[in-house]
Amino acid sequence: MSNHPDLFADRPGLLRLGDESVNFYLLEQDGRYTLFDAGFPAHYEQLIAVLAGRGLDLSAIEAVVLTHAHPDHIGIAERVRVEAGAPVYVHADEARYATTTEQPSSERPVTDYMEHAFARATFEAAMTAGVATIPPVKEVQTFTDGDVLDVPGRPQVIATPGHSPGQSSLLLSEHGVLIVGDTLEGFNVLTGRYGPQLGPDGTNFSTDQALQSLERIEAIDADLLFGHGNPWTWGARLAVACARALGRS
Ligand SMILES: [Zn+2]
Repeated sequence: MSNHPDLFADRPGLLRLGDESVNFYLLEQDGRYTLFDAGFPAHYEQLIAVLAGRGLDLSAIEAVVLTHAHPDHIGIAERVRVEAGAPVYVHADEARYATTTEQPSSERPVTDYMEHAFARATFEAAMTAGVATIPPVKEVQTFTDGDVLDVPGRPQVIATPGHSPGQSSLLLSEHGVLIVGDTLEGFNVLTGRYGPQLGPDGTNFSTDQALQSLERIEAIDADLLFGHGNPWTWGARLAVACARALGRS
């Protein structure tokens, strides 16, 4: 389990779930829980174990909030929705991808990256974690830019489209963190390149739009929690500068 207690020690209530490749986050606020993103199907047992460790079961989760609807972010969303009776929230421009097997187009075929051993490993890990078995979310609640969601943690929505049409960043002011999903990633999931950067073109709906969206988060005074990679505690401005310097991939 990739819980990093030291990195989260000053933020009681926030827990990182997932594995080396994929993150999602559990937030506890006054005994109430929100799940941010939903990993892969294989991560279900991890979530159950974390809750059991606190004497809880899945019914403790009151809401699932998705940064976007790529498969590695919605893995157990439908299962949690059904078993916990928890509504699933997603940006209005992303709802069709969460509720069907349709996915947004990407700028480049991912097969272009298969020369990289890292890309092959990423896909292998995804298959092992159940990427091919993810059910669409049958019912979603939609949000839009500027909304403050009435769920534990009260995340504020900052629309940061590009990686996908409805990609959103979620600001948890009280915790001083911005959950960015794949607006920025801590490493390159297809080439292995290190550092905060945009997703590779092969995973992006529009890299130009993703680059533009960085302007919406760069002035935010918060640590960043990525969909991929370790938490970033050096501020959004530096992360954005790194991403611009590293450029497309
Ligand atoms: Zn993604």
